[in-house]
Amino acid sequence: MREGAAVDKSAWLASLRAGLATAGRFALDLALPPGCLACGRPVASAGALCAGCWGRLRLIERPFCQRLAIPFGYDIGPDALSAEAIADPPPFDRLRAVAIYDEFSGRIVQGLKYHDHTELARSMAAMMARAADDLGVGAELVAPVPLHPRRLWQRRFNQSAMIAAEVARRLEKPHVPDLVDRIKPTRRQVGLRVSERAANVQGAFRVSPEARQKLAGRRVLLVDDVYTTGATAKAVTRALLRGGAAAVDVVVFVNMAEVIIYTRQACGYCSAAKRLLEKKGVAYVEFDATGKPDLRQEMIARASGRATFPQIFIGDTHVGGCDDLHDLDGQGRLDLLLAS
Ligand SMILES: [Zn+2]
Repeated sequence: MREGAAVDKSAWLASLRAGLATAGRFALDLALPPGCLACGRPVASAGALCAGCWGRLRLIERPFCQRLAIPFGYDIGPDALSAEAIADPPPFDRLRAVAIYDEFSGRIVQGLKYHDHTELARSMAAMMARAADDLGVGAELVAPVPLHPRRLWQRRFNQSAMIAAEVARRLEKPHVPDLVDRIKPTRRQVGLRVSERAANVQGAFRVSPEARQKLAGRRVLLVDDVYTTGATAKAVTRALLRGGAAAVDVVVFVNMAEVIIYTRQACGYCSAAKRLLEKKGVAYVEFDATGKPDLRQEMIARASGRATFPQIFIGDTHVGGCDDLHDLDGQGRLDLLLAS
């Protein structure tokens, strides 16, 4: 089921390139010929992906939950809802996402967010407009998740607004980038627990009095790059509904809710954890952090400081290591978690 974990030389070069680009983008742009963001093969413009790599995206396809776009293993009817959507209904009506989160789709998002590759925004938006096809019909306004002015100044552009403009153009709907204001500077959501994420964005968004007129009684399509715990999308949705929106749908490029395991090579605990997941028939994404300090840092941040391998995540839940996974299974709770 899963992608081969083998890291070939060109992929390694590409990740080195991406890492270095974060540190010294301008110097690097001059030093290296443009390479595909994912595989390193030469491409026409810096930061773009080659056609082959676009094809490697793991797309989210039907059948899936109508509310949260969580893929189902088999078709249980067009209006089927996931257990998650029933247990904890989001304030928005429907979420649509293009791809499942893995190291590869993650790189595309990072490429846009930190290296302002506008050609990526166009390609991402094209796929998002297709994914939001059924949402686009009823949408009256398209709006991005806003950045706080301070963050906007640092980063110079809002990647969500860049994508939203293109999604709106393709759906032939008005793009209203200033519909929602971010009135509170928030910490980065990365590395925060689910409850912390919700608190972090609480009261962070507001519909300005001027925007209320545009919004009154309208159906909004909200655009963001990534959906993780949904804390941000939910907070913006609530602000829009308070501001007078009739309803809100959400479209993102990557949906992170799935099983992820961070591993290192020659680790018995990692192998044992993977064997258990395989025995359960679970498709998982493996991040091999051997020789990749940035992946290890990402893991530690997400695992609230735990630095041992493996670390396992199921949707929003940090399971822990191999023993935690077995404990969960022993208590009969693993199946529940996997089904949610
Ligand atoms: Zn490529």
